[in-house]
Amino acid sequence: MSIQRQPTRPVSIGNITIGDGNPIAAQSMTATKTQNIEATAAQAEALRERGAGVVRIAVDSDKDAAALAEIRQRTTANLAVDLQENFRLAELVAPHVDKIRYNPGHLYHHQRDKPWQDKVKFIVDQAAKHDCAIRIGVNCGSVDPAKKEKYDAKDSITPMLESAIEHCELVDSLGFTRFVVSLKDSNPTKVVDVNRRFAQQRPDVPLHLGVTEAGMPPDGIIKTRIAFEQLIGHGIGDTVRVSLTLPNDRKPEEIDAGRGIIEDIYAGRVRSVVKFQEQGLNIISCPSCSRVENEAFIDLAASVKEMTQYAAEYDLTIAVMGCRVNGPGETDDADLGLWCGPAKVNLKRGPEPLGAFGYDEILPKLKQELDALIAQQT
Ligand code: SF4
Repeated sequence: MSIQRQPTRPVSIGNITIGDGNPIAAQSMTATKTQNIEATAAQAEALRERGAGVVRIAVDSDKDAAALAEIRQRTTANLAVDLQENFRLAELVAPHVDKIRYNPGHLYHHQRDKPWQDKVKFIVDQAAKHDCAIRIGVNCGSVDPAKKEKYDAKDSITPMLESAIEHCELVDSLGFTRFVVSLKDSNPTKVVDVNRRFAQQRPDVPLHLGVTEAGMPPDGIIKTRIAFEQLIGHGIGDTVRVSLTLPNDRKPEEIDAGRGIIEDIYAGRVRSVVKFQEQGLNIISCPSCSRVENEAFIDLAASVKEMTQYAAEYDLTIAVMGCRVNGPGETDDADLGLWCGPAKVNLKRGPEPLGAFGYDEILPKLKQELDALIAQQT
C-alpha cells in the first residue's frame, strides 16, 4: 500500500530518528520495579533485542532515578522516562536518557502555586541541556482539569486536543522543537478521532500512537490494530506502542505486535474497519509497569476476562488497572472499575467507590455488581 506520510519534523531519540518519513518505531515500557536494576536492565535489553526503537521506564522517586543511572550502564536501548507528578525529577533523569515524557495533566500536583508554564520550561531546559527529546503525553484518564471544565463531560476529545496544542505552542515558543505528542485513550475510535484532529492542526509534529489499557492478547492487539489502520493507513503516526497486559517475561510481545501491525498495513493486509465495541462487553486492562504493587494483577486481569464471559452480549465496560497511581482516574469511564493495591483490590461502579476487597474476595463481588447491572439492562 502506498502511504503518503504526514510531513512531520525529524526528532532524534538516541540512535534513531523518527518523523520526516523515517520508519515508524515500535516502543514498549519496562514493567519490572525500576529499583530492581538487574531485572529492569534485562527487560530493556530484551525489548531492544526484539526491535524496540525506544524503551520507556517509569521513574517516581529519587531512588528510581539513581537506579536509572545504573540501568543506563547496562543497556544500549534508547531510553525514555515517564515522569508522573514530580516534574523536578527531570533534572535527575535527563543525563541518563534519550527522551523525557511528561503528562500535561500531571503538572498540577506538585508545587501547586508554580504556574505549569514554569514547570514545562524546567523540563525543556533539562532536555536541551542533556540532549534529550521530549514527549508531551496526553492521556484520557488524566486530562488537564482546567481544559476538562470548559467542555461538556461527554466531549472527552476536545480537552485532550486543546491541552496538546497549548503545550506544543509553549514548547515551540521556548525554541525547543525536538518533541513528539501522544494522545491516548482506551477507546480506539476516540484515538483515531483525536489524533486525526491533532494532525490536521499540527501536521509538523510527530505523533506517538497508542490505545491505552488495550488489555490482553489477542483482543488488545485487535483493538489497537483498528486504531492504527485508520491512522497509519492515512499517513499519521511516527512511533507506536501496543499496550498489552502481559507477564514480564512476555513483554517483548508488545514489540512483535507493533511491528506486525505496521508491516501488515504497509503490505495492504488491513481489515475493513467496523465501529469497535459499540455493543457487547468491553474489558480494558492496563499493560502494567513498575508501579504494579502486586503481581497478582496479571492473573486477576485474566480471571476477570474469563469470569465475565457469560456477560459477553451486554453493553458494558469493565476496567482493570494495576496500581493506585493511575487506577482511580483511568477507570472513570468504566461501568465497573478495579484497581490494585498491595493487598486489596479497589472496586467502583461508575464514579461510586464500593470499597476495597482481598484478591480472593474480588471476583464474587465483581460478579454481584455485574449481575446487578445486567438486571438493569434486561
Ligand atoms: S495503571 Fe498503573 S500499573 Fe497500570 S500501566 Fe498505568 S501506571 Fe502502570
